Amino acid sequence: MLAQYLALKEQAPDSLLFYRMGDFFELFFDDARHAAAVLDIALTSRGEHAGAPVPMCGVPVHAAEQYLARLIRAGCRVAIAEQVESPAEAKARGGTKTLVRREIVRFVTAGTLTEDTLLDARRANVLAAVAPLRGRTGIACVDVSTGEMLLESHLAGDVAAALARIDPAEIIMPDDRRCETDSDLPAILRPAAHFSAREGKARLLDLHGVATLDGFGSFDTAALGAASGLIAYLEHVGCGRLPLLLPPRARGSDDLLMMDEATRSSLEIVEAAGGGRKGSLVACIDRCVTGAGARLLTHDLSAPLTDAANIRARLHAVRWFVDNPLWREDMRTMLRQAPDLARALARLVAGRGSPRDLGQLRDGLLLGGTLRERIAGRDDIPALVEGLLPDLAGHHDLVGALQSALIEHPPADRSQGGFIAEGYDTGLDELRITARQGRRAIATLEQSFRDSTNIAALKIRHNNVLGYFIEVPQRHAEALMQPASGFTHRQTMKGAVRFNAVALHEEAARIAEAGGRAEVAEAAHFEDLVARACRSAEAIAQTARALARLDVSAGQAERAAQGGWTQPALADEICLEIAGGRHPAVEAALEEGSGRFVANDCTLDNTDRVWLIGGPNMGGKSTFLRQNALIILLAQAGGFVPAQNARIGLVDRIFSRVGASDNLAKGRSTFMVEMVETAAILTQATARSFVILDEVGRGTSTYDGLALAWAVAENVHDAIGCRCLFATHYHELAKLAESCDALSLHHVRAREWKGELVLLHELSAGPADRSYGLAVARLAGLPQKVISRARVVLGRLEEGRARTGGLAAGLGELPLFAAAEQAEEDQCDTLREKLQSLNVDAITPKDALDILYDLTREA
Ligand code: ADP
Repeated sequence: MLAQYLALKEQAPDSLLFYRMGDFFELFFDDARHAAAVLDIALTSRGEHAGAPVPMCGVPVHAAEQYLARLIRAGCRVAIAEQVESPAEAKARGGTKTLVRREIVRFVTAGTLTEDTLLDARRANVLAAVAPLRGRTGIACVDVSTGEMLLESHLAGDVAAALARIDPAEIIMPDDRRCETDSDLPAILRPAAHFSAREGKARLLDLHGVATLDGFGSFDTAALGAASGLIAYLEHVGCGRLPLLLPPRARGSDDLLMMDEATRSSLEIVEAAGGGRKGSLVACIDRCVTGAGARLLTHDLSAPLTDAANIRARLHAVRWFVDNPLWREDMRTMLRQAPDLARALARLVAGRGSPRDLGQLRDGLLLGGTLRERIAGRDDIPALVEGLLPDLAGHHDLVGALQSALIEHPPADRSQGGFIAEGYDTGLDELRITARQGRRAIATLEQSFRDSTNIAALKIRHNNVLGYFIEVPQRHAEALMQPASGFTHRQTMKGAVRFNAVALHEEAARIAEAGGRAEVAEAAHFEDLVARACRSAEAIAQTARALARLDVSAGQAERAAQGGWTQPALADEICLEIAGGRHPAVEAALEEGSGRFVANDCTLDNTDRVWLIGGPNMGGKSTFLRQNALIILLAQAGGFVPAQNARIGLVDRIFSRVGASDNLAKGRSTFMVEMVETAAILTQATARSFVILDEVGRGTSTYDGLALAWAVAENVHDAIGCRCLFATHYHELAKLAESCDALSLHHVRAREWKGELVLLHELSAGPADRSYGLAVARLAGLPQKVISRARVVLGRLEEGRARTGGLAAGLGELPLFAAAEQAEEDQCDTLREKLQSLNVDAITPKDALDILYDLTREA
């Protein structure tokens, strides 16, 4: 057995091996130690290997899923080794001592799950393959739980942002070409030969039975290479069996509003700052009534669009549901009944489906048809919904077959049978009648045995080992032991003795035979129905997608109606006009504590692109910055926005940076992170981008910080020319307004009233008058003694500032950013000219040295 175990373990060196032994999965050696620690179960030992006891632990097969879930969450991979023949088969093959054959039938990994118990219903579960090839990097992703497949191709610099959007549960890469991902997930390295574009193309053509991929989109070498790696990996973890893979869709970076990892986490789109979904934008927006809807909404918010026509189509659908509240409620009530079609289908295709999954297909497809009919009866259908109608229906034959074949609530466990409806198969019905009659006959037998033996306590019972048997209490056993009694002894228990009898034996055999044949018949029907469903997999997936899209539109409308949100108008020019804007998550949190959110306006256009925002800490600067970024994001995801009025010039990228955020986990100092992230903005932002900078420069000394903040703000204003909100506590930056004409000053208002600081959370034009730092400190409960002392120190500092001009002395004379750049250029030109005029062959070493000294001085 150990030899067999070790041979299997060799095939799964990076996984915990679940070795099936009867009703248990056992783990041995280091696997056992590791799993016992993670699962907090007993570590025992069994037998010896190399003179030492073999550590072992085990989990019961019927409860294996919950243990698997915990191991996967702890970052483990698991290989499942099943018994692939019965003990009887093994015995027939090689005698009584022959070991049952076992094989690894599947690897369970975080990115390839299909089981409901291992998945979050409201979250996609994506496996991504990343392949750098010929100057580009391909990303192939699939959600194995639904079969949705996407192929992308990026410049190396955009890969990290794309992966941040995709948010995979598992990443694979070729072992010879790793690339930076910024992800916390360690990539799984696979043989480089698996990532071949030619192979990828061939596999996709073959999988979908087409002669060209053009119908799906256009895919470059890198994307196809990644697809090849992905498919090879799926084949490996499925031990040769591929999961559901729908036709791939292409996605270019231009179609989506780009946001990098830092922006996503600072805007708390799918995860709140403290981790988890609660408090995130998604949690605050999600009013979907199905898991599939919630997954699509998360996708929409993670990947907002840039194309006005597509955004408008989504907005019109939301408008439709907003304008018709009763209709919306009607649709949502119906959608609430919808099972998770996509996931049921994926389980069936993966060979892990159950009769219940078939029942879900039936119910979901039926519901699609009903919804279609209801919607088609209206005359005001928006284009997006109109486009979904053909996808909602059209499964007539399959639904008919499932309806007549299945009972109303089929079980999740197919081995018990009983899920095929009566009347579907007359042969099966007869077998069931035979079995039922047999059971009745056994009840009659029981009575006749009691009568003939005069033992009222005699019972006929059944278990899986003995089948049917007769049981009497110990004190009555004697009579039945007599050879003439017609009973044969089978087993003596504590207090009871078990017997057989010819009549019982015959009846039991009849039942077993009928039961066995019924089981075979049901299994055949199951396979047949699964095969039929698989043949329509693509169409079923379309229906699932259409249902999810309806749910998202209706859910967005529900959210808008609850919050009194508005439909944003889209514009082509560089502008942002938000009247009465709010931060959805902060507002929701305030409402919980019965606080009131103060709405604020924001108006940016080409003559006033950059807002510098001052004011006290806790005054609401960060909130204001983020709420405007979120309003843009929500609008481009195709939803209504928390404002009275909104007009938005489409944005290509959003950047959000928070000064000195803590990112020690990645081993960089906070200031370093701040600068790395700021550098990314300055190199990647375009005139169409929207940038929010929150206290950038705060992570270093005052002088350094002010200087950097100054230069960054100038660069954003002059060189990039994008819309930008810049929160800062450096009053000195206000001077920038004198030299930058599209930059204006604003502040969050505060008042001191009877010695107390009152934060109004209200935005006003003009520079901040003071910083109220001491008042905020008091609010925070700093001891009065410390505050008083600080007031004295502050008085001194302010005196000094008045005398010398302070931190910003001399900044007024600074040339403009562009002028400074020009001066530097001019100087380079002079140096270049001098170098070019030299005749290097004709000068002495001494001259050369002198010239070098001169040049250095000038530079
Ligand atoms: P700052 O960035 O100026 O330090 P924040 O934006 O972090 O301030 O806001 C601090 C707190 O003030 C928030 O947690 C929130 O509770 C409250 N707040 C912010 N903006 C508003 C607003 N517009 N209306 C009401 N409360 C607000």
